[in-house]
Amino acid sequence: MTCPICEKNQQVNPKEIYRNKNIVVSHAPLNANLLGYFYVEPTAHYENWAEIPLEVLSDVQAAIKKADSFLRNEKLAERVYSVTISEAVRHIHFHLIPRKEDANLKGTPLIEKATQQLAHDDDPVVTERAAEEFFQKAKEFFTN
Ligand SMILES: [Zn+2]
Repeated sequence: MTCPICEKNQQVNPKEIYRNKNIVVSHAPLNANLLGYFYVEPTAHYENWAEIPLEVLSDVQAAIKKADSFLRNEKLAERVYSVTISEAVRHIHFHLIPRKEDANLKGTPLIEKATQQLAHDDDPVVTERAAEEFFQKAKEFFTN
């Protein structure tokens, strides 16, 4: 059985922000109009927490800290939600979901919107250009 996360990470992904030997950080698709919604994924395929080496988990945590700083600097998050579900896609991965200060949705409704890629009529639309600039900035932040 093929894994969509392993497959994605073997290809060139324009939304990839950072990679080392243990983890990949990428931006989620923009369908839910959420700029700053990141995925943190171990590069190797683990389906259970017990299998993941501490060294890999440590890199996951470092990426979460980095993403949190970046999202706060960019004024995109008052809270950063970190969620692991890994039900439909078994490869364990983190969703980092920024919740803005003036967000209409908070808590599980925002998590649902993000993880289900739901767009709402009152969403601020994220343009391709704004997204490109944002990805560039994020890449610089993560590599420094
Ligand atoms: Zn996988």
